[in-house]
Amino acid sequence: MQPDVIQRSTRQRQVILEEVKRSRTHPTADEIYEQVRSRLPRVSLGTVYRNLDVLAANGDILKLAPGRPQMRFDGNLTAHYHMTCIHCGRIEDLPLTASDNPIDILENMTSHLTKYGVFGHKLEFVGVCAECAAKGLGFPGVDAFDPGVDAKKEDNPFDQKGKRRG
Ligand SMILES: [Zn+2]
Ligand SMILES: [Zn+2]
Repeated sequence: MQPDVIQRSTRQRQVILEEVKRSRTHPTADEIYEQVRSRLPRVSLGTVYRNLDVLAANGDILKLAPGRPQMRFDGNLTAHYHMTCIHCGRIEDLPLTASDNPIDILENMTSHLTKYGVFGHKLEFVGVCAECAAKGLGFPGVDAFDPGVDAKKEDNPFDQKGKRRG
């Protein structure tokens, strides 16, 4: 590659990284593309996709696979938990720190019970965001958004999926 080409691709990757890091909404590749394009008008969607893959492979950003058609990305590398909306796919950070929660106690117990050296866990919360609930979208198989009723939860297929550890 010519030096100017290398320089341009380094600059592109840097801008893409900055945009992912700046965002707290766990954007899709398309959303990142829109952000990057406002700074680098000539960048292509393919370039953004490729660079997101490289950045994720290098561990500079996280690739989130919440089982939606659109991959999302997270520039926040500190330990935190996610809440994913099953309808619109938005992902929000939980205001819960990893060092101050009962899940760490569970992790220590798991280590004790299994004799594994446990160094981490993956946990994703799934639900219906306030915006989707306001549109009347509930849990699959349930008419209305009403997470407080246990009887409804029992025949709710979503509940089993919700317990899945990824
Ligand atoms: Zn939603
Ligand atoms: Zn996050």
